[in-house]
Amino acid sequence: MKVVKIDEPYKISLREMDVPAKKPGEAQIRIKRIGLCGTDLRSYRGQNPIVQYPIIFGHEIGGELMEEATISGMKYPAGTVVTVNPYTNCGTCPSCRRGRAYACQFNETLGNQRDGAAFEYMTIMTEKVYPLPGLSLDDAVCVEPLSVGFHASRRGEITSGDKVVVMGTGMIGLGAVIGAAARGAEVIAVDLDDDKLETARICGAAHVINTSKLELEAEVAKLTGGEGADVVIEAIGLPATYRAAIDIVAFTGRVVYIGYAKEDVPFTTKYFVAKELDIRGSRNAAPEDFSAVIETLKSGSVPVEKIITHRYPLQEADAAFKRWAENPGNVIKMILEA
Ligand SMILES: [Zn+2]
Ligand SMILES: [Zn+2]
Repeated sequence: MKVVKIDEPYKISLREMDVPAKKPGEAQIRIKRIGLCGTDLRSYRGQNPIVQYPIIFGHEIGGELMEEATISGMKYPAGTVVTVNPYTNCGTCPSCRRGRAYACQFNETLGNQRDGAAFEYMTIMTEKVYPLPGLSLDDAVCVEPLSVGFHASRRGEITSGDKVVVMGTGMIGLGAVIGAAARGAEVIAVDLDDDKLETARICGAAHVINTSKLELEAEVAKLTGGEGADVVIEAIGLPATYRAAIDIVAFTGRVVYIGYAKEDVPFTTKYFVAKELDIRGSRNAAPEDFSAVIETLKSGSVPVEKIITHRYPLQEADAAFKRWAENPGNVIKMILEA
């Protein structure tokens, strides 16, 4: 079967490898969609410190069962659309002991700390497989990244009536927009790209702010009666946006950081105290986030056709990464099709 590897930064190779044999307890999946994630782009650019080259990237998966499989006690026929939970957990670290195995200290996500799924057939333990009868392959490949955004909205303990700013409307930010709107929040989406902001509106944002044209703090003040947002979800990862989150959140508000900051971020910490902020990180997604996203996708309210902005055949992964690296601005989700 075909497999795509990142051999070293900016070098992609297409190779052949044997189809893996199925072990007891595993399901066999024909992979049809692989989502490219910000972490994959960082691996391509040599900016992902947890990756050892060469690596098979890919942890966002849409595929089909190759033969009947029993998953959580239910039988699913060959051809059932599935996705995969790409994380592992050790069972004994502080996160695992607290019931937050998705944030395991020793987590190994497919395509990051271990080889991923940029190939045609995979075998994986059935407990990692989510059967998605009724959903499409395009829906399936969106489940994990949307779940990461949903998780951020859950970390923000968002409730009905909260005014929530989501900074960044890439895939994760859109997941946070959909998750926050589903919790009854009035969502304010922030980005530099009008097309992405339009998609954020379709995903449930009540207001949008294009910060290439408007001043963030003033606009948020206007939309919140001068108080600031109850919750800010930062899904960009730049020092400026990390700091801005503290400025635009209300007193006793919550700030959730999910953007991956590549450099140190200097903060004026007086507002941490003066505003008595709850400042939280958000990592990966819990099983209940996956379930919530799957239910939301089943409702048909997620504009998957707008979220997937770019498609390439698996064999053209090289061109896909080049395109994304050169012009990341208008990419929400780029996928490879096998
Ligand atoms: Zn991802
Ligand atoms: Zn653990």
